[in-house]
Amino acid sequence: MSAANSDALIRTLLSPALLASNAYHVPDRQGLIQLDAMENPYPLPDALRAEWLASLGQAALNRYPDPRPQVLMDTLKTRLGLAPDLDLMLGNGSDELLQLLIIAVAGTRRPILAPEPSFAMYRILTEHLGLPFVGVPLDQDFQLDLPAFLQAIRTHQPALIFLDWPNNPSGTLFATSDMEAIIAQAPGLVVVDEAYHPFSQVSFADRLGHSPNLLLLRTLSKEGLAGLRLGFLAGPAAWINELDKLRLPYNINVLTQLSAGFYLRHAALLAEQAERIRAERERLYRALLAMGFPVWPSAANFLLFRAPGRASAIFTGLKAGGVLIKAFTGHPLLSDYLRVSVGKPEENDRFLAVLESLR
Ligand code: PMP
Repeated sequence: MSAANSDALIRTLLSPALLASNAYHVPDRQGLIQLDAMENPYPLPDALRAEWLASLGQAALNRYPDPRPQVLMDTLKTRLGLAPDLDLMLGNGSDELLQLLIIAVAGTRRPILAPEPSFAMYRILTEHLGLPFVGVPLDQDFQLDLPAFLQAIRTHQPALIFLDWPNNPSGTLFATSDMEAIIAQAPGLVVVDEAYHPFSQVSFADRLGHSPNLLLLRTLSKEGLAGLRLGFLAGPAAWINELDKLRLPYNINVLTQLSAGFYLRHAALLAEQAERIRAERERLYRALLAMGFPVWPSAANFLLFRAPGRASAIFTGLKAGGVLIKAFTGHPLLSDYLRVSVGKPEENDRFLAVLESLR
C-alpha cells in the first residue's frame, strides 16, 4: 500500500478529533535539573540497590507475570486500611486505570466531568474515547465553585466525575465539604484521585464503602516509583469486580511486581523522603512569595506560581540556566503560570538562584 493510500485509509478510519490531536509531549530532559514532572528526586540509596537487584533475581522472564499479585495487593490494602467489603485493582500507572474507568462507562454516552484546570489526561482520555468532556472552572484560588459544579452535574448528568485531591496543576486541596456535596449529588461514579497523597497526608479512604459511587485512585509514581508504573484503584468490591473484567490480563509486569514489593518493605524510606520534600515545598513556597510571585499553598510535591506576561521568558531563562520546569504555553487558562516540582535542596537552590537572576 502506498503512503498516499494509507493516508486516505487513516482519514477514513480515525476520528477527526484523533487526527487533530498531538501525541503526549515529553520534553528532552537531558542534562537539566528535572523539576517538571512531579517525581521524587531521591534515587534508591546505594546500600539498598544491591538488595533490590537481588530481589529481581527471582523474576521468571519466560513466564507471564502473576495476573493478580495477591501479596502485593494485600500490602496495598493494609496500607489503605480497607474494610473487607472493599477491594482494589492494579494498573500500569494510574493513567491506565483512568482509561479503564472511562472505557467502563463509555457505553452510556454520558459526559465525564472534572474541574478545570485539573489533570490533563482526564480530558485527553475522555475525548480519545469519544465521550464529551465537561470542565467546570475553578475559582481564582483554584478551589471548587460548588454552585457551578452542582449545576453542571444537574445539567450534564455525568457518568463519571474526576476530582484530583490535591489538584494538579495548582497543588490545592478542595474543601472536603465541597467534595462531599459532589459525591452525594453525583448521579454516577466519583473518582477521587489521590496521586499526591504522600504529600497531602489526607484521604477519602475512610469514606470508601459509605457512598456507593465513590472510588479512590492512587499511584506509587509520586512517592518515588515513577519508573515502575504502578497505580491502584480502591472501592466497593462490587465495583472492582466489574471493572476488573476490563483490565488487560498481565498489565503489571514481573519486574514492577517484584520492585514494588521490595520498596513497600522499605516504605519508611519513601515516607522519610516525602517528609523532606514537604519541608522543601514550604521553603520554596516562602521563597517564591518573597520574590513577589503569586503562588498557591500546595499539598502536593509541586508549586504553581504566576508570572503575568513573563511565564514563557522565565521558562526559557530557567532552561538556559539548566533547570527544567513546566510551562503551559498556549493553555487557555494557564499561559501566565509556571509549575515547579520540588527537588533536592541543592536543585531547589539552583532553581531559585536562576529565577532570581531573571527577575
Ligand atoms: N493523577 C494525577 C492527578 C496526576 O497528576 C498524575 C500524573 N501526573 C496521574 C494521575 C498519573 O500518574 P501515573 O500514571 O504515573 O500513576
